[in-house]
Amino acid sequence: MSTRDAQVVIVGAGLAGLSAARELTKAGIDVVVVEARDRVGGRTLNHHLGDGKVVEVGGQWVGPTQDHIATLAAELGVDTFPTYTAGRDVGEELSAEALGDLVKLSELQAMADTLPLEAPWTADLAHEWDAQTFYTWMTDRMKDADARAMTELMVGAIFTVPSAELSLLHVLVFIRSAGSLFPMLTDVEGGAQQDRFVGGSQRVSELMAEELGECVVLSSPVRSIDQKDDVHVVSDRLDVRARRCIVAVPPTVIDRIAFTPALPATRAQLQRRMAAGSVIKINVIYDEPFWRSEGLSGRLVDPHGPVTITFDNSPPDGSPGVLMGFAEADEARRLIRMPLEDRKRLVLEHFANHFGPKARDAIDYIEGPWDEEEWTRGCYGANLPPGAWTAYGAAMREPVGLVHWASAETAVRWMNYMDGAVESGQRAASEVLQATL
Ligand SMILES: Cc1cc2nc3c(=O)[nH]c(=O)nc-3n(C[C@H](O)[C@H](O)[C@H](O)COP(=O)(O)OP(=O)(O)OC[C@H]3O[C@@H](n4cnc5c(N)ncnc54)[C@H](O)[C@@H]3O)c2cc1C
Repeated sequence: MSTRDAQVVIVGAGLAGLSAARELTKAGIDVVVVEARDRVGGRTLNHHLGDGKVVEVGGQWVGPTQDHIATLAAELGVDTFPTYTAGRDVGEELSAEALGDLVKLSELQAMADTLPLEAPWTADLAHEWDAQTFYTWMTDRMKDADARAMTELMVGAIFTVPSAELSLLHVLVFIRSAGSLFPMLTDVEGGAQQDRFVGGSQRVSELMAEELGECVVLSSPVRSIDQKDDVHVVSDRLDVRARRCIVAVPPTVIDRIAFTPALPATRAQLQRRMAAGSVIKINVIYDEPFWRSEGLSGRLVDPHGPVTITFDNSPPDGSPGVLMGFAEADEARRLIRMPLEDRKRLVLEHFANHFGPKARDAIDYIEGPWDEEEWTRGCYGANLPPGAWTAYGAAMREPVGLVHWASAETAVRWMNYMDGAVESGQRAASEVLQATL
C-alpha cells in the first residue's frame, strides 16, 4: 500500500472518470484516478480479432447530437465509420392493427418535451407520470398483442428491463435527454446507432489514460471514502488524501464503498433505486459476411427472442463477417442461467433460422454477460422505477460535501450513453474547478 496526496481523486477510469481527469489536468490540477479493474474503459471493452481488428463487447455506437463524445474522440484522433445497413432486414411483417397501435408511441414526444431538461421531476405532470409504470401506459393504449410485443422489444433494446420495471416518467426523461424517441433513440441513420469507432470505443479511454500517464492506478478497488477537512480514499494499492473526490462508478456498485460520514438519506435512497438492466451482447464471427451477398443487411427484429435484434457488426473493410445481437431484459435473465455451450447453441440455431444454415458455421463466439461483471453489475445503465425521480431526483448530481458524482447515469443529455458519461465527467470537473481547492 502506498500513499499519495493530490488535489482531486477520481474513483473509476471509465469514460466519465477519465474525462473528468482530462479536464482537470488541462486546468493544471493534480489528479489521481483509482480504478478497480486491470484496464480502463469500464463499460466499453474491445475484443481483438487479430490484424488490428476489433469488436466491442460493451458500448459502441455514436450518433448525431452526441457532441461530447464526438469532440473528445476527434481530439484524440479516433475516427468513425457508418454502421452497415445495406440490404433487406429480416423479421415478421406487422399487421395494419399493430402499426396503428404503434403510432400511439408518438404521444410520448409531446409529454417528454414538457420536462425541464435539468430538473424533470419538477414538471407539472411529473408526479402523475412517476406514479405509473411504462407497462401500464402502454397496455392502456395498445390492444394489439404484436404491437405490445414490439414495444416491449423496443423497451428492452433501450432500457434492458421489461416495461413493468420502468416509471413512465423515467421513459420520458430518457426521451428528453436524447432529444427524441424517433429517430434519436431508435434509429441507425440519424439516430444513436449511426456510427462506430475505428479501432473500437475503448480506444477513447485508452488514449485518455495514455495522456494522463502514471496518475491512473489500475487493479485497486476503492473500499472507503472518508471526508472531514479533506477526503481520504482507501483502495487496495493506494491510499490518497485530496481536497475533492469525484465518484465516477455505476450507481449499482457505489454501495461497495463505505462512506464516512454515511451518505445523506436522499442520496442513499436514490442509489438503492437505481438498478441496472440485463443484457448479453453477442458477437458471432464468420469467415465473411455471407448475408450481404444474399441481399440481407444482417438486421433482424424478432420480439420472440432469444436474441431480439441483430446487426452487421463487421469491421470497416467487411472482414471477417460479424453478426452481433442482443439478448435483453427477461431473455438475458433466462440465458445467463444456462451453461455457455447451451446458450451458444441456442443463439446459432436462432441465427440459422433467420439467416440460413451458414449461420451455424461460426469461427468464434464472443459475448459480454455484463450482469456478471463485479464492477458493473448490469447494463447498459441504471433505470428508475415509479416514484424515484420525484422523490429523489434532486440528489442525482448534488455533491455531498467534498464528493461529486459522475457516470453516464448522472448526465443531463444522453443519459446512460457514452456521450452522457463524457458530459458527466466534464460537468463534475467544472464543479470541482468552481470550488475552492
Ligand atoms: C453491452 C453494452 C452496450 C452498450 N451500447 C452502447 C452504445 O452503443 N452507445 C453508447 O453510447 N453507450 C452504450 N452503452 C453504455 C455505455 O457503454 C456506458 O454508458 C458508458 O461506457 C459508461 O461510462 P461510465 O464512465 O459512466 O461508467 P463505466 O464505464 O462503468 O466506468 C466506471 C468505472 O469505475 C470502476 N469502478 C467501479 N467500482 C469501483 C471502485 N469501488 N473502485 C474503483 N473503481 C471502480 C469500473 O471498473 C469502471 O471502470 C452500452 C453498454 C453496454 C454494457
